Amino acid sequence: MARRLEQGRLVIASHNAGKLREIAELVEPFGVDAVSAGSLGLPEPEETGTTFLANAELKARASAAGAGLPALADDSGLAVPALDGAPGIYSARWAGPERDFALAMTRVQEELGDSADRSAYFVCALALAWPDGHCETFEGRVDGSLVWPPRGARGFGYDPIFLPEGEQITFGEMEPARKHAMSHRARAFELLVAACLSAP
Ligand code: IMP
Repeated sequence: MARRLEQGRLVIASHNAGKLREIAELVEPFGVDAVSAGSLGLPEPEETGTTFLANAELKARASAAGAGLPALADDSGLAVPALDGAPGIYSARWAGPERDFALAMTRVQEELGDSADRSAYFVCALALAWPDGHCETFEGRVDGSLVWPPRGARGFGYDPIFLPEGEQITFGEMEPARKHAMSHRARAFELLVAACLSAP
């Protein structure tokens, strides 16, 4: 049985304003008040883990210990089986310091070459840690395949080359609400809410 999150403050171990806003809205109905790690002056730890879950967990644990409050962190990316799971935890880094995702998508396509296996999946790992060291983790995944050339200008990151299973359009072409209903992040949050959050 997972530990439940009490009402009160929750540190979001992310320095991304968009993520913070999304998470704040999600937890607010449960009487949870999201504050960013940045606003508390907490440093961003180096992501030294070898899995999405390990990286989410180390970020959540660092913020919980630093703030003396429960903390939530996420880590996500695109995994391509024909590339042995790459870019995986290096998804953001493949875009280089300029965060150039046209470059990152081209690299995926070049490395795939004429591989018959174009399957891919997005993963989102969430970790909720408490200052006493307890930690709950959740993982959401959405399966699909890779198209080339990229299609659509919506979303972000690798969305224009990702065609979710059973769909005719890429995440880059999809209405945001539709993507958000089926995404790896939505699935991970559903698990977290069911396990750890209670209505006030
Ligand atoms: P993080 O913010 O360090 O977890 O980096 C995640 C990276 O994975 C992002 O920079 C994107 O490249 C990629 N990524 C994660 N989720 C998505 C998504 O929903 N669409 C497209 N790319 C994603």
